[in-house]
Amino acid sequence: MRALIQGLSESEIMEIQGLLIRLGYYRGEADGKFGRLTEQALAGFQRSYGATPEEVIGEDTCKMLWKFLQGYDTYTIKPGEIIDSVAVRFSTTANRILAANPGLAEDVRVEGQNIVVPYGINVVDTNINYTYEIMEKNIQSLRTRYPFIEVGTAGKSVLGRYLYYIKLGSGPREVFYNGSHHSLEWITSVLLMKFVENYSKAYVDGTALERRNVRDMWRESTIYVMPMVNPDGVDLVINGLQSGNPYYNDLIRWNKGSKNFSRVWQANIRGVDLNHNYDASWSMSKAAEGVYGITGPGPTRFSGTAPESEPESRAVADFTRKHAFRLVLAYHSQGELIYWTYSDKTPLESSRIVQHFARVSGYKPDQTSGIASYGGYKDWFIDKFGKPGFTIEVGRGTNPLPISQFSKIYKDNIGILLMAAVI
Ligand SMILES: [Zn+2]
Repeated sequence: MRALIQGLSESEIMEIQGLLIRLGYYRGEADGKFGRLTEQALAGFQRSYGATPEEVIGEDTCKMLWKFLQGYDTYTIKPGEIIDSVAVRFSTTANRILAANPGLAEDVRVEGQNIVVPYGINVVDTNINYTYEIMEKNIQSLRTRYPFIEVGTAGKSVLGRYLYYIKLGSGPREVFYNGSHHSLEWITSVLLMKFVENYSKAYVDGTALERRNVRDMWRESTIYVMPMVNPDGVDLVINGLQSGNPYYNDLIRWNKGSKNFSRVWQANIRGVDLNHNYDASWSMSKAAEGVYGITGPGPTRFSGTAPESEPESRAVADFTRKHAFRLVLAYHSQGELIYWTYSDKTPLESSRIVQHFARVSGYKPDQTSGIASYGGYKDWFIDKFGKPGFTIEVGRGTNPLPISQFSKIYKDNIGILLMAAVI
């Protein structure tokens, strides 16, 4: 087994461990290290699916792992077979199969027809370092399992990664949630992706989330989610600086000579802090740089050469201008705080809304001060559109927050994520 494992990155091993946890074979931590426990768990997985544990992970095992990671299989309906029996065979429900195959009728048996069968397990893994690649795969999987969600891109990052958005619902009340403006805060991408998964699932199952009927919400509201605004930065802090990076030498210089970005880097790949790059008191943000000893690109707080100088902030602003959002949430970590004001422009209803958010989350309404109150996305949104905008700081501790905080963060925020779409 060793040989192939040595070719896998830490993130890839973590991804496999995360899957083995979800399937119930692994009780350890997803730490990216292929130790004895992981080896045993993988052997258990192989035995269950009819493969003999091998010295190297064979093609069959790889194929099986990949299928489970993508969360669905394709299947050819056999003579006389009905959807219910396919559902039992794959530990899923007829409802979810029907949702994944628009046009497929429950009572018609079409032998020989190829269908998509979503597995019973969830797609979005909340135990691992959530890279851009994993998010991209998850988005593709969710779109296959739930073809009624719309996926698009609002633009590309400096290094050409897509700025994905996901559209949930068809109602007239449009809201926008985004995450990971800051690299070290990628746990907010996991939060938003998990929300997308659970919301879509509840829609198919016709169930409620926090006592809210999701099918009703679907008709009332449209929720746009952009889970990762800064994919290049997230990649840098999780996977480290790769030799092919076109900013390789610059990045080391901007990082004061250090090749370690994993605990400090918040900016995009050109050293611009995206949440100081919007056209709201931008010149104040620029002027305040001196106070923080900032003279150019770096890990944090450099506002760029002009508002929207970066493709990521420009794409988010363009996307916002194209819609008429009633409200926006910009997700950050950490502090368990909700920022809701911007200069004297804060809409009157924001104070009422933030009280509701505080009640359902246990987070504390707060107001930014100093450099943090300039050039941010929610500042810009409030300034330009006069509608409620919020920066939500999830979790507590030092960024990047350990993924072990995920359950609490999700529990704290699910109420806000639902309420923001209907309030
Ligand atoms: Zn932040």
